[in-house]
Amino acid sequence: MQLDIQIPDIQHTPTSRRPVSPPLMRLTGASKLYDKGSSPREALRSVDLDIHRGEFAAIVGPSGSGKSALMKMLGLLEAPTSGGYSFQGVQEQSLSTEQRLWLRRRFFGFVPQAFNLLRSTSLQGNVALPLMYRGLSAERCQLAAMRALAVVGLEDQGHKMPDDLDGSQQGKAAIARALVCNPSVLLVDNASRPSDQPLCADIGSLLRKLNTEHLITVVLVTQQASAGHWAQRTVSLNGGEVEQDISRAAASALH
Ligand code: ADP
Ligand code: MG
Repeated sequence: MQLDIQIPDIQHTPTSRRPVSPPLMRLTGASKLYDKGSSPREALRSVDLDIHRGEFAAIVGPSGSGKSALMKMLGLLEAPTSGGYSFQGVQEQSLSTEQRLWLRRRFFGFVPQAFNLLRSTSLQGNVALPLMYRGLSAERCQLAAMRALAVVGLEDQGHKMPDDLDGSQQGKAAIARALVCNPSVLLVDNASRPSDQPLCADIGSLLRKLNTEHLITVVLVTQQASAGHWAQRTVSLNGGEVEQDISRAAASALH
């Protein structure tokens, strides 16, 4: 599907040749109210946030602070109730349903908090699925799935079933499935609680590698403050509001 949206290709553009452009993702006074049921919940309250191309940002906050709501908004899965969101300078309000879908498929890879791997399908089959849905030949899908599995270090595990893997490997498989369509932006919803083991070091270093070597913009939402170790920037959310926004350079200057 090719749609009439004026949006430049944002992938793999070297920094030195980047034109001056709007932030990749910009929330302006964005609020999200879920008003179904008896008790309406304000998941996000007047959030101003710019995410630039090439960043690795960790969005950190306790359960219920609005992390998933924010991620869905950034990925064009949900619209703000008030305020605005623009992706590469395009206001989401101006998009048709088809355009929104096209942008999501073209630019975003999602890693949902439960991974959502099909238990009765091999890893390779799971990773190939997004391409199968797009109607590519089985051969191309399988080849692309093997390549994506190799990027996350699971090249010799493709025949295994999800239940044969540990949590970190399942996370990597879900990342491979998000990578198979060659996204520019990876949105990762990490569900582990602060009491769980700290954000798995190999997932953290994999996300950093995807950011620095594959030039993918990464947004990781998590309860784990340790995510700041892998990201360049940590945005703290509380009660649907941005409490703090610290880049690594600024953080080291404080210490
Ligand atoms: P987090 O991911 O940080 O745990 P969420 O973004 O999932 O937080 O949720 C933020 C708030 O919005 C919570 O109070 C939650 O109960 C509420 N919420 C999230 N999704 C929905 C929904 N679909 N319907 C109603 N309330 C919701
Ligand atoms: Mg969540």
